[in-house]
Amino acid sequence: MGLRDFARLRRDAPLNPFDLARFANLFVVDIERIKGLSSQSRELLLGSASGEWSGGACSRPLPDGRRIVVLNPNHGPARTNATLMEEICHVFLGHKPNRLAVIADEKRGQILARDYRKLDEEAAYGIGAAALVPFAALRRAVLEGKSAADVARHFRVSRDLIEYRLKVTHLWSTYKSAQLEQSVPRA
Ligand SMILES: [Zn+2]
Repeated sequence: MGLRDFARLRRDAPLNPFDLARFANLFVVDIERIKGLSSQSRELLLGSASGEWSGGACSRPLPDGRRIVVLNPNHGPARTNATLMEEICHVFLGHKPNRLAVIADEKRGQILARDYRKLDEEAAYGIGAAALVPFAALRRAVLEGKSAADVARHFRVSRDLIEYRLKVTHLWSTYKSAQLEQSVPRA
């Protein structure tokens, strides 16, 4: 709810993480605007390995303190919103990347990347999802008989994210019976 206040949103309004990114000092850069990216890297990131990454932030900040975030342009707006929201949450939650991992081993030398601890990943995703789809609005939509797909469209997120929120907020069984009621014709 604090993150939504930051973005000055109405109760049930969809949150646009791109509006929130600057408060987290994140600078979202379109991958097409990155100069000096080799054609092999581009092919890997946008082609054969595109399914393996959704986004990431540079661990080293720019001189003005902002950190660059690159999002996978192939993943569509719903998934991109969740990815950017997760990166924003890592910043607001003060997560420190801890593990230095070798992500590629080219002839010139190793490419290293830091990532977050698994628990931090879960927290950032979970809180990001809650900011995108707040409980009260989700509960209201469920009681109105809206489907997960309808709610997903309203909040500009994936249906998977709505179903995840329904489960972690214990609204799943209420949702299932509301949906059942919708499908039974009234006498
Ligand atoms: Zn993460």
